[in-house]
Amino acid sequence: MSRAAADAVIRLDGVGRSFPGPPPVTALHPCDLTVRAGEYLAITGPSGSGKSTLLHLLGLLDTPTSGRYVLDGIDTGGLGDRDRSTLRGRRIGFVFQSFHLLPHRTAEENVLLAQVYNRTPRPHRRRAARAALRQVGLGHRLDALPTTLSGGERQRVAIARALVNDPSLVLCDEPTGNLDSANAAAVLDRFDRLHDEGYTLVVITHDPAVAARAGRTVRIGDGRLTGPAAAGPAVR
Ligand code: ADP
Ligand code: MG
Repeated sequence: MSRAAADAVIRLDGVGRSFPGPPPVTALHPCDLTVRAGEYLAITGPSGSGKSTLLHLLGLLDTPTSGRYVLDGIDTGGLGDRDRSTLRGRRIGFVFQSFHLLPHRTAEENVLLAQVYNRTPRPHRRRAARAALRQVGLGHRLDALPTTLSGGERQRVAIARALVNDPSLVLCDEPTGNLDSANAAAVLDRFDRLHDEGYTLVVITHDPAVAARAGRTVRIGDGRLTGPAAAGPAVR
């Protein structure tokens, strides 16, 4: 295997997704995409272009109807539901537009509960949850319920939850879509820092300001990916 292939977190070979209908819809035409470890990639496109379809495939929430998806060197096509869930839980951190926090759980519990695939003892998981919340500047709000937090703080809890298992991939769907411009800018600053720390970030968005922060942008229109399918040579 070449160095580039060995370092790839995501490799899509001809991955597509059709829905049988009626009427049949090709939400994603077969596409190739490589994302290297440590990359910050934006995927942009208008409403209905196939962004969510692609996100669900990348996040192992859906399976392609054509092609091959290799995540972290693992061919996901051969996996059963349980192995897919375990791989998703251990290697992918999600950040969604609407935060998806459990409303009756504290910030710390929301992050703690993301560690169901982590077999370490509970005290260790609790320490990891607190460390992740401190990492996003919420060490003083461990016991807060989501309803008592601002939108920006809620998204930071969601980011802590995404990071707590030390994921190979942080996958974000319109992460600033529900935030005012100040909180959106703070979240983007946080992503810059995560990128500096070496995380692999894939951010799906229709907001050009979000895409402007990424190292590479791939566009999607009518279910077709355009733009560089693989990064150039590493610059570090
Ligand atoms: P975006 O997230 O960019 O707005 P989507 O990925 O949600 O776009 O949708 C892309 C296309 O696929 C749209 O035409 C949509 O109607 C279609 N589509 C998405 N999910 C399904 C489904 N489960 N069944 C049929 N068509 C779907
Ligand atoms: Mg969508």
